[in-house]
Amino acid sequence: MKILCIGRNYEAHARELKNPLPAEPVVFSKPDSALLRNNDPFYLPDFAKEFHHEVELVVRIGRLGKNIEESFAHRYYEELALGVDFTARDLQDELRSKGLPWEKCKAFDGSAVLSGFTPKMRFADVNNINFSLKVNGEVRQQGNTADMINGIDRLIAYVSKYFTLKIGDLIYTGTPAGVGAVQMGDRLQGYIEEELFFDFMVK
Ligand code: MG
Repeated sequence: MKILCIGRNYEAHARELKNPLPAEPVVFSKPDSALLRNNDPFYLPDFAKEFHHEVELVVRIGRLGKNIEESFAHRYYEELALGVDFTARDLQDELRSKGLPWEKCKAFDGSAVLSGFTPKMRFADVNNINFSLKVNGEVRQQGNTADMINGIDRLIAYVSKYFTLKIGDLIYTGTPAGVGAVQMGDRLQGYIEEELFFDFMVK
């Protein structure tokens, strides 16, 4: 399976990092070795100083597809999850200034936190789902899928022009504003609506 991630998909987050709003979705990927599941702890790596949390709604592809039309995209996923796209921000700034690829700052081991899955049918409208992240009990990020620049169906259509989507592939759909560095000992809890989806420690 592969993990595709969308950058700058919420206007307020693009602004907080002083990035221009992209004309097209920003796409990058992570290998399956990036996955961190079952509320396992996130061990701070030693190759950077600043590891930012980015809470994101995750879509699990349920059907093989290529060049999917936006109007049919809803047929290609049945399940959602909540994740964290951990980012070594100081390393990302360095790589970006040199025009180098993002893998080292975005795709390292443990950088793709993933909760359990839940059926999308539970939600009346996938384009109106609240999600949030608490750090040590305090809300740090709050988002609603209605605020995505490109919604789920458009993202599926877009990425499938470049990558054949297979069953089990994941799309991290971008983070709302409020990203920040985690510290050793932090407890991160992620919610979709009022339900707890992940709860893990930074070590
Ligand atoms: Mg992200």
